[in-house]
Amino acid sequence: MASVSVTSVRSPIVAGNWKMFLDRRGAITLAQGIVSQVTDNNNVQLVLCPPSVYLDAVGNVIGITQAKPFGERVALGAQNMNAAANGAFTGEVAASMLRDVGCRYVIVGHSERRTLMGETDQVVAAKTLAAFAAGLVPIVCVGELLADRESGKTEEVVSAQVIGSLAGVSQANLETIVIAYEPVWAIGTGKVATPEQAQEVHRFIRNLLGKLSSNETAAKVRIQYGGSVKPDNAGSLAAQPDIDGALVGGASLKADDFLLIVKAFQS
Ligand code: PEP
Repeated sequence: MASVSVTSVRSPIVAGNWKMFLDRRGAITLAQGIVSQVTDNNNVQLVLCPPSVYLDAVGNVIGITQAKPFGERVALGAQNMNAAANGAFTGEVAASMLRDVGCRYVIVGHSERRTLMGETDQVVAAKTLAAFAAGLVPIVCVGELLADRESGKTEEVVSAQVIGSLAGVSQANLETIVIAYEPVWAIGTGKVATPEQAQEVHRFIRNLLGKLSSNETAAKVRIQYGGSVKPDNAGSLAAQPDIDGALVGGASLKADDFLLIVKAFQS
């Protein structure tokens, strides 16, 4: 089967996953350091994903107000959500609440949640659908373990995750979704996939999306790479035709490093 054309214009998207790091002051300072240096001619969508208790504070730095509920060039994202609309789910946060504090994006299915919290593709799919229903754009994470790669099962594992995590998503929503390909063995380990390894899986995912929907839709989907992205490897990843941005963990905690990664994706 012919592979999906990548001629469609996809604006790059670079998201910082701050995980469970920083305190309130640190989150505000980091956001200020990023926002103050973003230039208007930057075509990259930036997304800051602080711990949920600091969403409001970071939203203020981004300039989210009642009149302007979402950041433009710099948007707010959450690291997780519950699929339920509301209810007796102690400690959980609903998509509508994230939207209420100005989030435009939400990360779902991060490998740390899949591994540490036992999130299955079914759970991720429910979150994906609930995110769309609340008006959020989900950043859906997929990626193989080292053992999967070493036993030649990368495509099998990634394809099951993509199909399972996107179950029930409409064609219209699929066009706007963000997928983050994050090989688990590269997250927080300093072992980055080579640009060729990453491109191969990104191309595979795009072709799979083409089969699940249409080539036109697949050509519009932004696929981020995540896994030890740093200023010194971002350029070679950004040069790959199917890599449309990055989901950055460790390096997103330093404004200068994060901005250098953003710059690498700037056209
Ligand atoms: C992540 O947490 O999604 C991630 C990619 O982390 P790091 O950049 O630190 O590998």
